[in-house]
Amino acid sequence: MLKRIAEDFTGVKREMECMGCWYNESGEDVPGLVLTTELFHCHQDYANPIPGFVILTPRRHIKSFDEFTDEEATEFIALVRKIRKAQREVLGIETIYFVQEESTKHHFHVWFMPCYEWMNDVEKFGDRISSVRPASRYARENMKTPEIIAEVKVAAEKLRNFLKK
Ligand SMILES: [Zn+2]
Repeated sequence: MLKRIAEDFTGVKREMECMGCWYNESGEDVPGLVLTTELFHCHQDYANPIPGFVILTPRRHIKSFDEFTDEEATEFIALVRKIRKAQREVLGIETIYFVQEESTKHHFHVWFMPCYEWMNDVEKFGDRISSVRPASRYARENMKTPEIIAEVKVAAEKLRNFLKK
């Protein structure tokens, strides 16, 4: 597979083939770690400095839901519920975009992307689900400030502490 350079939300660049496999291999040594289990990895979105934007990915290199084992399927829904609850209770996130995109070079992952007030600019980002790409691109290009990066790390830490309980 082709290796590509991927810049993370703190500005660090790494060469990788599949981001899910990179997370699996890196374990707890990743920026914005939220939780790890034997089957899954959950972390702040790699590229976008949006606080509370969380990714859940299985450790195995699979593409779709139908490849889940029964064990993965059971744990997956339990984790989805826990993570969403943590976003709501710890960070006050009322609305998210829950996205699973198979047309990607990386392995299976779902986005829990918060819908923040600043994204509700229809002229700038488009309406509702169509704002997801433009808003994340905007964050990548304009929000990598020391203040926002720190805020993103704190949000991940808060989710991590909540989910440890
Ligand atoms: Zn992979």
